[in-house]
Amino acid sequence: MSTLEVKNLHVEIEDKEILKGVNLKMATGEVHAIMGPNGTGKSTLSEAIMGNPAYKATEGEVLLNGVNILELPVDERARAGLFLAMQYPSEIPGITNAEFLRAAINARRPEDNQIPIREFLKKLDKMMTTLDMTEEMSDRYLNEGFSGGEKKRNEILQLMMIEPKFAILDEIDSGLDIDALKVVSRGVNEMLKNAEFGTLMITHYQRLLNYIVPDVVHVMMDGRVVKTGGAELAEKLEAEGYAGLRDELGLDV
Ligand code: ADP
Ligand code: MG
Ligand code: MG
Repeated sequence: MSTLEVKNLHVEIEDKEILKGVNLKMATGEVHAIMGPNGTGKSTLSEAIMGNPAYKATEGEVLLNGVNILELPVDERARAGLFLAMQYPSEIPGITNAEFLRAAINARRPEDNQIPIREFLKKLDKMMTTLDMTEEMSDRYLNEGFSGGEKKRNEILQLMMIEPKFAILDEIDSGLDIDALKVVSRGVNEMLKNAEFGTLMITHYQRLLNYIVPDVVHVMMDGRVVKTGGAELAEKLEAEGYAGLRDELGLDV
């Protein structure tokens, strides 16, 4: 089992404090969801964990199996077992999907133990079948000309191929129709059969959590986790809105 712990994390963007002491702890085998209104710092949390240089951690720690990854360069964070799927996946021209995936897998393996091509292709074929992807998508340039739904599906393919310890999935449901949402969820649930995987899912809407059922739900408001509960908390939020929770907690943000 691995653990990921965010301890009193403070993060600034352009000298403005966005995260004001975030705390949460999770283990592999678990699904945690972060919900919260727009502009509350959810994406800031994922960017800071992955090491986007625009997001400056001024206080606190992010511990992966007890090691503070905030002190590691970005590529080492990925090698340590973190995966970030972005709200807006980027296009990388000139490199095919399959090339990218193989390089990403090998970058996480020792030089003398690179993935054999046949093993790679077999795994790729299996994962693409799970995600209802056509073979042709692996030969296309990374994300170039992909629809929003195809990009999301492709990110889940990356996740399944790379097999990180923890994945932070930031609004993977945004812009997905119900069929695409089901496919993407199938991929994540497939990963969750593996005990050595945990995911932190950031979502604005409860809908996603009908397909990927969380063990723990954290609500973020104004740069802090203000409430933690079970899956029922997401349903309560859906019914009562964030305003209801603000009143309950006596917050004026
Ligand atoms: P959420 O994901 O919860 O919607 P964000 O983390 O994206 O919230 O944003 C939190 C706050 O930080 C917002 O006020 C937003 O305007 C600000 N912010 C986010 N990214 C940047 C950036 N790159 N530059 C300046 N301000 C930013
Ligand atoms: Mg936002
Ligand atoms: Mg966001």
